[in-house]
Amino acid sequence: MSRLAYFDCAATTRPAPEVLDAMRTVQEETWGNASSAHGFGQAARRLVEDARAKVAALIGARPEEIMFTSGATESNNTVFQSIAPALKGRGRRIVTTAIEHPSVLESVQWLESQGWSVARAGVDGAALVDPAAIDRLLGDGAALVSVMLANNEVGTIEPVAAIAALAHTHGAAVHTDATQAVGRIPVDVTALGVDYLSLSGHKLHGPKGVGALFVRRGAKVSPLLHGGEQEGGRRSGTLNVPGIVGLGAAAALAARDLAGRAVRIAHLRDALEQGLMARIPNVILNGHPTRRLPSHANLSVSFVEGESMMMGLDLAGVAVSTGSACSSGSLEPSHVLTAMGCDAGRAHASLRLSVGYDNTEEDVARALETMPAVVERLRKMSPTWADYKKKQAVAAAPQG
Ligand code: PMP
Repeated sequence: MSRLAYFDCAATTRPAPEVLDAMRTVQEETWGNASSAHGFGQAARRLVEDARAKVAALIGARPEEIMFTSGATESNNTVFQSIAPALKGRGRRIVTTAIEHPSVLESVQWLESQGWSVARAGVDGAALVDPAAIDRLLGDGAALVSVMLANNEVGTIEPVAAIAALAHTHGAAVHTDATQAVGRIPVDVTALGVDYLSLSGHKLHGPKGVGALFVRRGAKVSPLLHGGEQEGGRRSGTLNVPGIVGLGAAAALAARDLAGRAVRIAHLRDALEQGLMARIPNVILNGHPTRRLPSHANLSVSFVEGESMMMGLDLAGVAVSTGSACSSGSLEPSHVLTAMGCDAGRAHASLRLSVGYDNTEEDVARALETMPAVVERLRKMSPTWADYKKKQAVAAAPQG
């Protein structure tokens, strides 16, 4: 077992060979500027439009509803920094949730600094947003509702279709950050009923630095980047043709293989999750047990720090990530796990394992072989584990 096991597909995925081939060919042969009127430009333009149709097909959109960006961070920032202010005729208020990705959370904070009011719905212990809670917050009016389709830390899938229907009855526009969901579960903009949807290439075995924003036909749009009139004036900047072609190739593969991938990913994820829970005592699942992306397993290994586990596993050739974000040198517990009601101990003990279709049974075996030993070693050094074991021994001792 020499191969390193990568279980961090929520952070990024390995570009598919077909994606790399398509991008290499573009770099070598079709390097024209897609805005140029001559043949070099028009050849590149054709590839861009072909990719646009592929991305649209993956999410049930029309090609003209897809705007290419540099990734989901830009798509999200466009929604809050430029589209939301253009909606302000409907009131300067946003309804969102406490568990969004930082590119939404911090964009919303920026709007707050501009005088907007923001209502953040909480979640239950499985990270589910209750549409009724959104409905109550909508009672005070809102220009925009933004709820992510699937959470990046725990994988819980949110009831976005129900929320969008409610929001529209209140006259609010609806955005969903579908970055973790697209390519892993079926995503259809008509079924969801959203006006705006963000996605990113590198989460679906495409390249980094490219993504898209779906803007429903007739929905308000306003550019974040000005200056070149590309993308019909909605997003300026010379088009990233290789990236866009790579995203198109990844979207076409995802559309073709979605069902088979999901079954394979869920099988490997379940084997990993159940295997770890069987081998290591005191492991708790974070997130929804069933209403969850097939890829995600977020586990709290009680009495051990997630960061130490992550580093121990890395040394043993298994790549995972933690539920804690390391910010400004201090370890803050994850805002998602905190919103779910996890105490600091459980939040700090969390580990996110995220599986891709390119993982193997051998990868799972490697993690199952490695992780119990890493945890045991760390627990031996943990005073809270020693206390717990002592209390257990007292409780088990014969009474009287
Ligand atoms: N939203 C979510 C839910 C994500 O998981 C990520 C990536 N971690 C982003 C947005 C940002 O995507 P990008 O890397 O394309 O900027």
